[in-house]
Amino acid sequence: MTKEMSCRLRDRANRVIPGGMWGHQRAAAVPSEFPQFFDSGHGARLRDVDGNEYIDFMCAWGPMILGHQSPVVEEAAARQAARGICLNGPTEHTVELAELVVDTIDHADWALFQKNGSDAMTGCVTIARAGSGKRKILVARGAYHGAVPWCSPSLVGITSEDRAHILYFEWNDTDSLAAAVAEAGDDLAAIIVSAFRHDLNRAMEMPTPAFSQAARTACDKAGAALIVDDVRAGFRLDLGGSWNLMGIQPDLSAWSKAIANGHPLAMITGTERFRDAAQNVFITGSFWYGGAPMAAAIATLRELHRLDAPELMRAAGQRLRDGLDEQAARHGFELVQTGPPAMPLIQFLGDDASASLGEQFCNEALRRGVYMHHQHNMFLSTAHNFAEIDTALEATEGAFAEMARGRQRDA
Ligand code: PMP
Repeated sequence: MTKEMSCRLRDRANRVIPGGMWGHQRAAAVPSEFPQFFDSGHGARLRDVDGNEYIDFMCAWGPMILGHQSPVVEEAAARQAARGICLNGPTEHTVELAELVVDTIDHADWALFQKNGSDAMTGCVTIARAGSGKRKILVARGAYHGAVPWCSPSLVGITSEDRAHILYFEWNDTDSLAAAVAEAGDDLAAIIVSAFRHDLNRAMEMPTPAFSQAARTACDKAGAALIVDDVRAGFRLDLGGSWNLMGIQPDLSAWSKAIANGHPLAMITGTERFRDAAQNVFITGSFWYGGAPMAAAIATLRELHRLDAPELMRAAGQRLRDGLDEQAARHGFELVQTGPPAMPLIQFLGDDASASLGEQFCNEALRRGVYMHHQHNMFLSTAHNFAEIDTALEATEGAFAEMARGRQRDA
C-alpha cells in the first residue's frame, strides 16, 4: 500500500489549511494509517490519491446510498448542469422533487430545500419556534445535529447565549425527557430526536417504544414540534422516514446526506400544522435553488424506490454482520455489533476508551482493501451486493487472523 501522494498532500495542506483539514475530515477522525485524500469512487469501491482501492464502508460518511457514480443519477445531474448550474430562480426539478418527496415521506405535506444537514436542522428549529411561538428546544445529550453554534459538539468560539433555550435530556430515558419537558414549562418549542442513537464511539441504540411515544405525547400536549433528524439515517432504513419503524410521525424532519447520492442538497419536510410557519420564516442561500442536485435527487429517490433499497442494504449489512461475528469468534474476539445492519458499528468487547482494538482492526482491514471506521457508524449502499460483502469478508478474515497472531506474540 503506497502512501506517498497522500503524505505529500498532508504536508502541503498543513501549510495552508489550519490543522491540515477541518471538521470530521481532519485526519484524526479516521484510524491512524488511513489515507486522507481520494481520487475517485465507483460502485462500492473507492480509490485514494495513491491508487489504492478499497471496498468502501463509509460511503462518503453517508451520501453515496446508490454507490459512487450511479449512472442514472449522474446522467440526470449532467443533463441539467449542461443547461445551467445556477439560474435566477429554481428549475422545474424543484417542484417535481417536492411532489416526489411528499408522495414518499409519510408525514411530509411540504418540502423546502437547502444544502447541508446543519441548514436543515437549523431551519427546523426556526420553523418550530415560529409555529409554536415558544423558545425551548430539547436535545439528547451527546447527539450530533450539525456544526453551527446552537448545536456544535465543540464549545470553542461558542457563547452561552448561542445555547440559550437549549435543554438536554438522556436518550431513551423517559424520566430525563419528562424532567427536561418540565423545565421548559410553557415555553417548549420542539423536541429533537435522531433516527436512532448514533453518537460517536458508543453502542448504537434504537429508540424504545416508550421513549418515542413519550416524545410524541409531550409535543402534542405542549403544541411543540417533534423534529426527527434524519440527516444521517434518511432513506437507509425506511423511505417514508426513520421513525416509521417506531410507528411515530414527526412534525418536522431534516434530511441531507443520501438524498441526492452525493450531490449537495438538504431538505426540511413538515406537516400541514407547520406550513404557515415554514412560509413565514426567512431561510435561503445563494446555491439553494440550483437544478442539478435536484435532478440528482429525483433520480436517486426513483432508484431507491425501484430497488427497494432499504431491504437490499439491510440484507447486505446482515451478511456482513454475521460473517464478522463468525470470524471474530473463531479468532478469539468478541464483537459488539450495533445499529441497523445498513448503518453498522463494530466494537470489540473489552476495548479501551479510544477503541484501540477497533482501530487496529480497521488498519488491518485497510491494508487488505477494506475501508471501515472504528468509532463512527458505517454506511452500506445498494452497490454493496453479496459479492462485495464476501470479498470484504475475505479481507476481514485476514485482519482478525493478524490480530490473533499479534496477541499470541504479545502473550
Ligand atoms: N445531523 C446528523 C444526524 C448528522 O449526522 C449530520 C452530519 N454528520 C448533520 C446533522 C449535519 O449535516 P451537515 O454536515 O451536512 O451540515
